[in-house]
Amino acid sequence: MGKDRKTLTGSFGAPVDDDQNSITAGDPGPILMQDIHLMEKLAHFDRERIPERVVHAKGAGAHGYFEVTADVTQYTRAKFLSEIGKKTEVFARFSTVGGEKGSADAERDPRGFAVKFYTEEGNYDMVGNNTPIFFLRDPLKFPDFIHTQKRNPTTNLKDPDMFWDFLSLTPESVHQTTILFSDRGTPKTYRHMNGYSSHTYMWYNADGDYFWVKYHFKTEQGIQNLTREEADVLKGTDPDHATRDLFEAIERGEGPSWRVEVQIMTPEQAENYRFDPFDITKVWPHDDVPPITIGRMVLDRNPESYFAEVEQAAFSPADFVPGIGPSPDKLLQGRLFSYHDTHRHRLGANYHLLPINAPKNVPQHYQRDGAMSTGPVAGGAPNYYPNSFDGPAPDASAAPPPVAVSGWAARQPYSHPNDDFVQAGWLYRKVMTDEERTRLVGNIAAHLGGAQERIQLRQAAIFFKADAEYGTRVAEALGLDVARVKELAAMSQDERVAATK
Ligand code: NDP
Repeated sequence: MGKDRKTLTGSFGAPVDDDQNSITAGDPGPILMQDIHLMEKLAHFDRERIPERVVHAKGAGAHGYFEVTADVTQYTRAKFLSEIGKKTEVFARFSTVGGEKGSADAERDPRGFAVKFYTEEGNYDMVGNNTPIFFLRDPLKFPDFIHTQKRNPTTNLKDPDMFWDFLSLTPESVHQTTILFSDRGTPKTYRHMNGYSSHTYMWYNADGDYFWVKYHFKTEQGIQNLTREEADVLKGTDPDHATRDLFEAIERGEGPSWRVEVQIMTPEQAENYRFDPFDITKVWPHDDVPPITIGRMVLDRNPESYFAEVEQAAFSPADFVPGIGPSPDKLLQGRLFSYHDTHRHRLGANYHLLPINAPKNVPQHYQRDGAMSTGPVAGGAPNYYPNSFDGPAPDASAAPPPVAVSGWAARQPYSHPNDDFVQAGWLYRKVMTDEERTRLVGNIAAHLGGAQERIQLRQAAIFFKADAEYGTRVAEALGLDVARVKELAAMSQDERVAATK
């Protein structure tokens, strides 16, 4: 054995004498139960997999830092944002959404964009996507939506009928569907895309004044996308291309960076705003609320263990620090529950003790025990509150400011259904070039063409409602009767659904 070579041990540290030959009774002989090393090796192997994430299963991540570049203390008391030049360690994970852990990085899909800030006041997680909006605004629809993006429960195949049936029955999705089928639906790599909080969050300052805020992480590598044809080739030739790109760029010392901007709205502006400022299917147009640059994120260190650091990384939009809080955005409210819940299922009740998830400050609380507890992280006794043994006590000053709410407790349908098409129309007309519009229509036709004709008609009518030319071009690309699409577009959603049963 070489001088510097370490001795192989079992999980409990004792040396292993042989890692090639099981202990047998004679030669060849049956294997003996007393080969404890073999038993341990097989038993651990049998348990190597944990449940994959239901969404965002395939991902890549890296460590780095966030640096503050502007004074935002008038808006938030968050300590990690308190000084220009202040740096905070981060861990970011990028992912596709609808695929499985083995699916191709070049799939047409939104990309997850999650950042964990290890601040001195605890972890703050920004769990966004590479799109500023989402397909739906009520978490009650989320499980159904994801079912339609995954596999048909009978055939186990991706199913264009399921995919487009749901979207065409959910017209609020048309804005995000338009982004998904634009060039941005297939980013060239994780380094060449923006990240957005998508949700609106609350920021509040030391005086208790609050503001509504949206985050934009703008890639400093420049936006670059794949065409459908390029993505189709990559899916077969290099299904892990974005994972490889991120790792290799960081190894080369070309760690990617993002300029961090925020849009900020006062409660008074929000009250009178032309859109519901908490509707995640809408952006705040830049002219209404100009983004301001507040910092920069750099990723410069690769994980040493993919499993320990990327697979076990557990982000949650419910991880706030003082100065940042939730908004009434309904989808966000659902996510505040669901992320911690899924991690408890996937990683266990003590997943916050894993090094990648543990905050840098020492947590002080009264939760104890449970599977895989690693000891007196939160101290020994007492394990209850209130107590008279100097155990940790709440700090009332950490409370976010109160927000007034009013109305009836009831299931409330969205009150502005006609504005579902406006911003998709802007994107098509104002933002896209002719070439981008042509690729958009081609990308849609290539996918929607796999669905039943009645679903194609219903969806083409939804595109028509966003923009007449957009709907017409999709209908023509699919060989549909354009006059029929126009007729369907003039109907209410209920009539349209009845007419395309
Ligand atoms: P602006 O003209 O000020 O901004 C348009 C923005 O669209 C660009 O800044 C860019 O966002 C983004 N963009 C460019 N190409 C695409 C594409 N193919 N797919 C998706 N986004 C693209 O317009 P408004 O702010 O008035 O918004 C108009 C439309 O632009 C919106 O309806 C929305 O669809 C889209 N958009 C708006 C964003 C916003 O926060 N206001 C953000 C992203 C898209 P970026 O600078 O973030 O790269």
